[in-house]
Amino acid sequence: MSDTRTHLLIIGGGPAGTQAATTAAMKGGRVTVIEKDIVGGAAHLWDCIPSKTMAASALRHTSVRNAVQLGLINDPGRVDVHVLSERITEITADINAKWINLLDSQQVDIIRGTGRFVGPNEAIVETADGDKRISFDKALISTGSAPRVPDWAEVDRERVLTSRDCYDLPEVPEHLVVIGSGVTGVEFAHIFESMGADVSLVVSRRQILPHRDPEVAAVLEEDFLERGVRLVIGARAGSIDLTADGVSVVCNDGRVISGSHALLAVGSVPLTDGLGLDAAGIETDHGYIPVDEYQRTSVPHIYAAGDVTGQMPLSSVASMQGRKIAHHALNLPVEPLDYSKVAEAIFTEPEIASVGLVDVAAAAEGRKVRTTKVPFASNARSVLQHFTRGFVKVTSDPATGVVLGGTIVGHRASELIGVLALAVQAQVSAQTLLETLMVHPSMTEAISDAAE
Ligand SMILES: Cc1cc2nc3c(=O)[nH]c(=O)nc-3n(C[C@H](O)[C@H](O)[C@H](O)COP(=O)(O)OP(=O)(O)OC[C@H]3O[C@@H](n4cnc5c(N)ncnc54)[C@H](O)[C@@H]3O)c2cc1C
Repeated sequence: MSDTRTHLLIIGGGPAGTQAATTAAMKGGRVTVIEKDIVGGAAHLWDCIPSKTMAASALRHTSVRNAVQLGLINDPGRVDVHVLSERITEITADINAKWINLLDSQQVDIIRGTGRFVGPNEAIVETADGDKRISFDKALISTGSAPRVPDWAEVDRERVLTSRDCYDLPEVPEHLVVIGSGVTGVEFAHIFESMGADVSLVVSRRQILPHRDPEVAAVLEEDFLERGVRLVIGARAGSIDLTADGVSVVCNDGRVISGSHALLAVGSVPLTDGLGLDAAGIETDHGYIPVDEYQRTSVPHIYAAGDVTGQMPLSSVASMQGRKIAHHALNLPVEPLDYSKVAEAIFTEPEIASVGLVDVAAAAEGRKVRTTKVPFASNARSVLQHFTRGFVKVTSDPATGVVLGGTIVGHRASELIGVLALAVQAQVSAQTLLETLMVHPSMTEAISDAAE
């Protein structure tokens, strides 16, 4: 067994791990990353990049279908999933190569293999060439998460799928039954419907996106219903039977939804099994690793970041945590991450994006806020582009006028939200937002209008 020593050892090279590695290396730290699959992590291999690549194709295909309705073309054609799958592989490989080059250029040591702790300052990596022992001063656990598979379901990757199986299907499913109507469920319902599949969405509560603003969910529900997506409201799936030509999803209230494929989109589980956390003395909570405001675990020189912590499961958050950890581990000044200012988006069409304190959350906290709203139907650019669905809502402090947050539902909301994210971060007043001269005609005008 070969032995090495490093200052910062990182187990898991996803957004949290790679960002921590590059920042620490830039600041002069000696860094080692252990990664068992690809540098870039699940985010690049299965989550953000492939799903948004599919969403981009889905959006274009929807435009083509709309072109038929507008009399521009006669035939929308069919989606070639093989070409799409190749595109995903190429994009992933390209991003992966860029990250490896960056880390190599910074002399970050990348070890391919599976890491585990054998003590509070020692880990072992199982590699194709045998085991390596690594001593470290500080460590970061950024091993991420995987889709949750409930005990009543068995994934065969052909008929019963998780999000990880959606990128190389031999054809667009004829009828996809999506189980779960959170972010992943609605994104894939949108993607596959756009590509021509019949879609049924099993919604366990009274609305899709159960933890979100009902007004937001209503816009997407209306859109789904118009597109022929079947919403099976208030139904909790309890089993999946394989049939001669597909699947039958049986709900606990007796409803049965038949389709060609079932997609499980019922959350994720942290990847901490086999990591030797006991050997390092690290505490867990239901498999997740609790951390303090500087991402330190119960063993202060070992940090955790990203999905494995159970904090906001977003690539952007994982990266920012990684950046902050690099500073903290090198004893450089750093402020804890402010989770009240994180911008996030759901890549349906219309897209849904929010940042900061939104009105429903304020109401739940019993906090008084001023909320103003402008529908895109009254925005010139939206009307002329024929993207009138959705709205902008801005939340501000009634005493100071400072923008606290907002929600945008609409075409390219994931881009538009940047204006509000900056306003929240810089504590801009609604008046300043209102007086900002946006381009005319543009959808950003709806944001300044909503600040009135
Ligand atoms: C379908 C889907 C779409 C998503 N889309 C978005 C999006 O558009 N925007 C967004 O912000 N977020 C999105 N997310 C969430 C995002 O993917 C995660 O929050 C993000 O990947 C978390 O990053 P991470 O660094 O914690 O870990 P991961 O990206 O999960 O990476 C962890 C890495 O650790 C490695 N690893 C695990 N165990 C070991 C071990 N013992 N030894 C060595 N290596 C190990 C794994 O191989 C993996 O490469 C999406 C999630 C899903 C499921």
